[in-house]
Amino acid sequence: MKPKKQFGRKVGCLRCGRKRGIVRRYGLHLCRQCFRDIAPQIGFRKYS
Ligand SMILES: [Zn+2]
Repeated sequence: MKPKKQFGRKVGCLRCGRKRGIVRRYGLHLCRQCFRDIAPQIGFRKYS
């Protein structure tokens, strides 16, 4: 059995594929830039 999702260190941002500044907080796997981008959509407000 192999997991469909390969959430390893090789995996970068789910959105843009960037591997730097990944935010795995809240169960997400996005770079900080994308995180800020979708944050409002998932219920987070921008940091002033
Ligand atoms: Zn990204």
